[in-house]
Amino acid sequence: MKTHVCLVSYHELGLKGKNRSTFERRLVDNLSFLLGERFTVRKIHGRILVDVAKAEEIDEVAYRISRVPGVANVMPSLCVGRDLSEMCHVSLRAIEKITPAPLTFRVTAKRSNTDFEMTSQELNEQIGAFLVEHTEMHVDLKNPDVNVRVTVIGGKTFISVIKISGAGGLPVGSSGKLISLLSSGFDSPVATWRMIRRGAIGIGLHFSAAPAVSDTSTRQVHEIGEILAETGGLARIYSVPFGDIQREIASTIYPDLRILLYRRVMFAVAQRLAQAENAKALLTGESLGQVASQTMENLIATSEGVTIPIFRPLIGDDKHEIIEIAKRIGTYDLSAQAVDDCCTLFMPRSPETHVKLARIHEACAQLDIERFVDECLEVMDWQDYPCNRYTAPKTLIK
Ligand code: ATP
Ligand code: MG
Repeated sequence: MKTHVCLVSYHELGLKGKNRSTFERRLVDNLSFLLGERFTVRKIHGRILVDVAKAEEIDEVAYRISRVPGVANVMPSLCVGRDLSEMCHVSLRAIEKITPAPLTFRVTAKRSNTDFEMTSQELNEQIGAFLVEHTEMHVDLKNPDVNVRVTVIGGKTFISVIKISGAGGLPVGSSGKLISLLSSGFDSPVATWRMIRRGAIGIGLHFSAAPAVSDTSTRQVHEIGEILAETGGLARIYSVPFGDIQREIASTIYPDLRILLYRRVMFAVAQRLAQAENAKALLTGESLGQVASQTMENLIATSEGVTIPIFRPLIGDDKHEIIEIAKRIGTYDLSAQAVDDCCTLFMPRSPETHVKLARIHEACAQLDIERFVDECLEVMDWQDYPCNRYTAPKTLIK
């Protein structure tokens, strides 16, 4: 009898001793939570198995699994016993479903038990010979149209003709919580995804230009949130209507310094939020030299008052590399729709690119930044996303 399952692999490199079992347990828990009660998720011999009762759901389930940090790859598979003739027939049936029909193939057999009577190479040859006999296909070991993977684990054999790359990285919950300064642009969603992939729980913090303009950027950030939430690592997005504070800054401060002052306030709010959330670090999508506010001097000036680490995973990336990841993770189309957020509002014509700290300190002395931070925390709203690793703070420190 054959059943439908997803066979999930994870990178074992660097996983030793207790780390390994913690990693595996977390990944199983996270997958169970995200897939829901209808699916049984269990560990077998260095892999994870997800039973899929309805065959027509298997592609969708495999896709959802592939998005989850810790997953190296996933293969939608047919599960049979250890009978060679059954392996051959099921392989044939799996190939017959592929369109367009493949012209070339190879078999890649693997055994996790050495008690199986045939070697991997013998399995390759036997199943290969059967497929040559019953189809028009030829063998091509180097560049086949289809690779028939036959994996013998325990008393079972898994036959797969598709292998989907996973997110990689570590299961969410392995690395603590961070506050991500999240806009609807290309960079910060990619930066957030990369840190969630390293096992962190992401809490987004978005500043919109509301009430000065309608709150489209917040809606867009929430849509981006839906995509990031497929990882199970985005717990919540806070949004702050920032327009009034920007207006106040803009009316007090030289135009060329405005952006830097907005950013300083954002960092100050993020740091206070980190305290309330017990988050250990902040995260931005900054990339060195990409725009005026991201020169070394300006990066220093904007984050000067922050005492916890600021992660900038894209700092050395080129835009095209960032865009590639945005496409892969699915945020590209949303980020490509330009909307006004608080940073596009009240933009100076020529921003300062290499600010001296003394000028920033002088500007800060003219503003009541602590009051701005209090006001932001006061009006802040939020939306939750499914994350089994997150406990919301009982109260936000205001
Ligand atoms: P992004 O593509 O992430 O918007 P960017 O290339 O537009 O980045 P900046 O606008 O200078 O560059 O923003 C630098 C970083 O500051 C962003 O990556 C993000 O972390 C943070 N940031 C910018 N705008 C906002 C916002 N409206 N709310 C929260 N964080 C923001
Ligand atoms: Mg931006």
